[in-house]
Amino acid sequence: MNFYTVNIDLGKRKRFACGCFSELFCEPILTLCSKCGEEYSNTDYDKMFADKAWHVGMYMDRDYYADFASSQFRPIVSAKAKRILAENCSNATDFGDIKMVSFRDLTREKLKQIRDWAGYADTKKIPNDPPQYYRLLLKQGAELDFQKSNIKLTIDCTTCGRKNYDIPYSHYGPNGSEQIYIIESTWVGYDIFYAEGKGNTLFCTERFIEIYEKNKLSGLRFEKIQTV
Ligand SMILES: [Zn+2]
Repeated sequence: MNFYTVNIDLGKRKRFACGCFSELFCEPILTLCSKCGEEYSNTDYDKMFADKAWHVGMYMDRDYYADFASSQFRPIVSAKAKRILAENCSNATDFGDIKMVSFRDLTREKLKQIRDWAGYADTKKIPNDPPQYYRLLLKQGAELDFQKSNIKLTIDCTTCGRKNYDIPYSHYGPNGSEQIYIIESTWVGYDIFYAEGKGNTLFCTERFIEIYEKNKLSGLRFEKIQTV
């Protein structure tokens, strides 16, 4: 089986819309751990992203829409991608709602706040009536060979639960995916999944790419990784 990293394609000639949270949920509260000496945040954004009860408000930053879009944390998917994933990928059947926010919903103060938070945000491009997107909730599906991938577990604290991985910069450079080794025997059979040690990086199988291409989905690009 061949495995790939899944990356958001922001679009070549025309940039695809990204999802942006319209509310700043809370300032991270930093606490110093007495055991590992690291400051840790009590705000677990990944947990919040996965919380079904959390009604996230999100606006799109422009009106050119892909089936897979970037959000400030993890990818969000269109209704079409949601349906195709649910029908074809055994594990990609869990989604969280998003409260889509239209330009009309944003008050003058909110627009000013958005411009202040993110200098890049051109608030004039925020569309009215954005299509519905969903949070794509996925699990871990395989282990990486840390030694071969040059990933080091630098903090593994039993007191605050903090785990920190040192990932080489070269992983993010050209051909960086070639330096990532997945242990095929640990793969649980998912077509799209996360892997411990690589944070928000998504992985997929060649079968996932076939489904993606056959159904003419948009917004992703894939890079092959190594298998051991
Ligand atoms: Zn700690």
